[in-house]
Amino acid sequence: MKFQELKLSDTLLEAISFMGYEEATPIQEKAIPAIMEHKDLIASAQTGTGKTAAFILPVLNELANDNRHETKVLVIVPTRELALQIDQQIQGFSYFTPVESIAIYGGGSGSEWDQQKRALTSGTEIIVATPGKLISHLNMGYVKFEHLRYLILDEADRMLDMGFYEDIQKIITYLPKERQTLMFSATMPPKIKQLAAKTLKNPVEISIGLSKPAEGVLQAAYLTYENQKTPLINDLITGKPEVKSVLIFSSTKKKVSDIVHGLRGHGSEIRGISSDLEQSKREEVLRDFRSKRTRVLVATDVLSRGIDIKDIDIVINYDVPGDAEDYVHRVGRTARAASSGLAITLINERDMMSFRQIEELIGYEVMKLPLPAGLGEGPKWNPRVIRRPYRGKGNFRGSDRRKKR
Ligand code: AMP
Repeated sequence: MKFQELKLSDTLLEAISFMGYEEATPIQEKAIPAIMEHKDLIASAQTGTGKTAAFILPVLNELANDNRHETKVLVIVPTRELALQIDQQIQGFSYFTPVESIAIYGGGSGSEWDQQKRALTSGTEIIVATPGKLISHLNMGYVKFEHLRYLILDEADRMLDMGFYEDIQKIITYLPKERQTLMFSATMPPKIKQLAAKTLKNPVEISIGLSKPAEGVLQAAYLTYENQKTPLINDLITGKPEVKSVLIFSSTKKKVSDIVHGLRGHGSEIRGISSDLEQSKREEVLRDFRSKRTRVLVATDVLSRGIDIKDIDIVINYDVPGDAEDYVHRVGRTARAASSGLAITLINERDMMSFRQIEELIGYEVMKLPLPAGLGEGPKWNPRVIRRPYRGKGNFRGSDRRKKR
C-alpha cells in the first residue's frame, strides 16, 4: 500500500519520501488508520517490521493541527539506545514541522540532567524516555503531563523482563486518564496481556509475523567446539572487503573482550560493546559501527532488540541464544525491512538442544554448514544427546549440564 492512501499530510508524505520509504509495511498499513481514528492499540510486532514509523507517523499527523507548545506524547522504551534511535526517527519525520522531541535516559552528566529538566518543563511535544530516568524527574515534582494525549509503550515485553512493571504503573498515575494508549510488544506472554487489560481501553489488536525472522535473511549454522569458534570467524570475515559490516553476539560481557582480542584486525576495525561501557563510549562505538568505520562489532544482548543499524552484512551468534525469541531478534539485525542478509549461529556440543528448540519456534531447520578445511572436525549434529534425565545424586554428569547463562 502507498503512503498516500493512508491520508497523511503532505508534509509527512514529503518526509517519508525523503526517508526513501516507498510502500507502507503491513504494521503501518494496519496501525496507522486505527491510530488516526483515536483507538487504543495493542500490536505484536518484532523490530524490523517498521513499527516505529507505524506509531510516529499518525501521531505527528495529529500534532501538526495543534500549535500549542505542550508535552503531548510520551514514549516509554526499555533502553537508552532505543530511546535515542526513536528520537532520531522522530526528528527525521518532523523535520518540516515545528514539533520537538527529546530522549530522556540515564547515564549522562549533570548538564544532560539540566537539559532534560528544561525539556520536561518547557513543553517539548514528544518525550521518549526510559522508565527509571523518567521517574527520577517525576519525583522532583516539576514534570507537567496534564496536556498529554498519547502514551506509547514500546518493546513492552522487554520492559517487563527488565523489571519495569511497577515503574510503568507509577508513571501512568501521573498521566491524564483521557488519552490514547498504544502498546507494542514482540511477544504476548500473560503479563503483557494483564498490563494491556489494565492500561488500554477497547484496543484494536494487530499481530504481525511473530517469531519469524524477517524475510530475506539467509540463516546458517556451524557445529563447532568452543575453541574452533574464533578461528572460524576469522576465516569467515578476514580478507573479505566486500563484507563491510559484521555484528557478533556473545552471551556474556567477559566473552565480548575475549572475542575482540581473538579476532584479526586492528584499531577501530573491531570493537566491543556491553553495558560495562559508559554511555558516551557506547554511543561512539555505535556511531562508528553505523558509519562503517568499525567493521566488526561484538556485543552482548544490549543491541539485540530494537536497535536499528542499516546494512549489516552478517550477524553471528557466537553462542546459541538462551531464549528462542532472542534468536529471532538477533537475526533481525540483518536484512531490515526489505534488504537481504546472512545470519550465522555457532553451535557447540552442549547447545544443540537449545538450537533445536529455536528451529521448532521458527518452524524450519537451519542449514548446517561444514567447517572450512584446516579447522578440524566439529561435533556431530545430535540435538538429543544432552537431555539425559538426572538420575539422582552421584549419577549426574557435569559435562551434560546445560551451560548457565
Ligand atoms: P523498526 O521496526 O521501526 O525498527 O524499523 C525497521 C527499519 O525499517 C528502519 O530502518 C526503518 O527506517 C525502516 N522502515 C520503516 N518503515 C519502512 C517502509 N515503509 N519502507 C522502507 N523501510 C522502512
